Amino acid sequence: MNRAELNPPVAAGKIIGVLDLQGDVCEHLDHLRRLGVAARPVKQAEEFEDLAGLILPGGESTCLARLLKIFAIDQVIIRKFHEGMKLWGTCAGAILLAKSLSGETSHLGLIDAEVARNSFGSQLDSFTAEAAIPKLSSTPIPLTFIRAPKIIRVGEGVDVLLRMGDFIAAAESPGILLTVFHPELTPSLAFHRYFARKCGLHPGAEDTADNVFWDRTSWMRFARIA
Ligand code: GLN
Repeated sequence: MNRAELNPPVAAGKIIGVLDLQGDVCEHLDHLRRLGVAARPVKQAEEFEDLAGLILPGGESTCLARLLKIFAIDQVIIRKFHEGMKLWGTCAGAILLAKSLSGETSHLGLIDAEVARNSFGSQLDSFTAEAAIPKLSSTPIPLTFIRAPKIIRVGEGVDVLLRMGDFIAAAESPGILLTVFHPELTPSLAFHRYFARKCGLHPGAEDTADNVFWDRTSWMRFARIA
C-alpha cells in the first residue's frame, strides 16, 4: 500500500484542525481519530482554508496569544470563523475566545462570555469531577480541570451546557463551543463527537470507549513524565 492509499485525500470542509502552537494538541487529534474524523495539526495560515472546525487546545493562554500574533494567524482564525468555521476552545483555548477576561485584555474576543483565569488557585488545586450532560451523552462525563478558568457570565445567544456551583463550565453559541475542562484528557469521546456534529460532520456513534475505566490520575502522571 502506498502513502496516498494510507492517507486518502479528505474532501475540503470535512477536516477538523487542532491549533498546533502550544498545549495538548496530540490528545485532541487522538480523540478525533478514534471517532473516525479527519483531523490534523494546523499553524500556517494556508492550513486553515479547508477546515470545518478548529480546536484551540488547553495550555497557557498568554503564551498562546503571543504565538497567535507571532505566527500572524489571529486574523486568519477570526476571518475563517466569520466564513463559517466552527471553534472549540478548551481551557486556555476558551480564554482566547472569550469577549471579556476579568481584569485583563481579551484576545480573539469571538463569543459573548466573561472568563476569569486561574479561578481555582494554583496548578496544585487542579481536580477531576463528573457531570451528567444529557444533550451530549447518556452516561456521566468525566471532567479534568487543570488550573482552570471559570466562565462567570454569558451573553445573549450563548447557552449554558454545564453549570457547576457558582460557575459555568461549558457553554456554546451556534459557532463556538467553550469548555473550561479538558475532555481530551479523559477516555470520553462525548465532547469531540458533539463538536464534530456541530461542524456538520458524522462521527462514529456512541461507543463503549465513552465508558471505559478512567484512571483519574493519569494526566498527573503525564505531567510528571513531561
Ligand atoms: N491557567 C491557564 C491559563 O490561564 C489555562 C490552563 C489550561 O489550559 N489547562 O492560560
